Amino acid sequence: MRVGILGGGQLGRMLALAGYPLGLRFRFLDPSPDASGGQLAGLVIAAYDDAAAIDRFVEGLDVATYEFENVPAETAEHLGRHVPVLPPREALDTAQDRLVEKECFRALDIPTAPFAAIDERSDLDPAIERIGLPAVLKTRRLGYDGKGQRVLQDLDDVQRAWSDLGGVPLILEGFIDFDREVSIIAVRGRDGRVAFYPLIENQHRQGILRLSTAPAPGTDERLQALAERHAARVLDALDYVGILAIEFFQTGDRLVANEMAPRVHNSGHWTIEGAETSQFENHLRAICGFPLGSTAPRGHSIMFNLIGAAPDVNAVLAIRGAHLHLYAKEPRPGRKIGHITIRADDAETAAERLEQLRQAIG
Ligand code: AMP
Repeated sequence: MRVGILGGGQLGRMLALAGYPLGLRFRFLDPSPDASGGQLAGLVIAAYDDAAAIDRFVEGLDVATYEFENVPAETAEHLGRHVPVLPPREALDTAQDRLVEKECFRALDIPTAPFAAIDERSDLDPAIERIGLPAVLKTRRLGYDGKGQRVLQDLDDVQRAWSDLGGVPLILEGFIDFDREVSIIAVRGRDGRVAFYPLIENQHRQGILRLSTAPAPGTDERLQALAERHAARVLDALDYVGILAIEFFQTGDRLVANEMAPRVHNSGHWTIEGAETSQFENHLRAICGFPLGSTAPRGHSIMFNLIGAAPDVNAVLAIRGAHLHLYAKEPRPGRKIGHITIRADDAETAAERLEQLRQAIG
């Protein structure tokens, strides 16, 4: 089977790496000639709304998928006339807009922060009155890695946040004073079967994911079951096929949904070495209609992102249980250029190895 992937960045690259052993072939579409997936498979270099390029991209494909949620609606529609596009269109529409996403969670009885749509400056004051401060003002579309959002601590912050972000549709959310952030990676096959990886604990800095620990320490069966129930509702409601990630704020034994990603997710990179079947392989199994693979963890994993600069390869590979993934991207400040997963049979050893690695690479 030949799989087309919209976007040729690291997620597409890791999908291809997982798919070759299954006999799959790949083609990427990406506006950048440097897209690192291009090292692994054919790359159509074009804008995502270039209809002629999409016709070239789609030729001979059996299924198309994407590695980011901001695929233009017209592109998904155009593609969908020639080949199945999975996860389905409705998932894209939902995840592209933070308001639609929160409304989806609410309709499915999944707790969220209180929220309000902000289209004009005059919407802001009544929303703040209702939701209270602190609160977070976010752009509804195209925000990622903490971009396009401002925390409002008190009324003095309001005007500046509006000047920074106003002019596009916004959402105001109540600030959740969470204990920690967790995510669940779920998968649903073409036959409707579902599977879930263990909850993952995520640490962000400046809005960017730094460290994921899986299984999330101190998670009991009830919390896992709650996350799975929430995810299963989204999967079924959207008639979903593929990997879906949902990020939650945990407060006590409550999970408050923040956002979803209709694709393989950074907090699931540990599954390459740390689970029986990786999220990348399971995404491909799902969209190609193959049986899903086991999501059981193999021991304990800690994944951390390499941001802005590459470490000394020798130093990393000298640590037992450390697995290096470089994405063939030019280092730039704030740019994710790779990740390292540390795996061990028990959580203590994984933590020790992380400490060794920290000392080795600074
Ligand atoms: P997001 O782009 O929505 O994933 O937000 C990036 C990060 O900002 C999250 O991982 C949280 O650490 C923080 N954040 C976002 N929304 C909220 C909120 N409503 N309450 C508290 N922290 C938030």
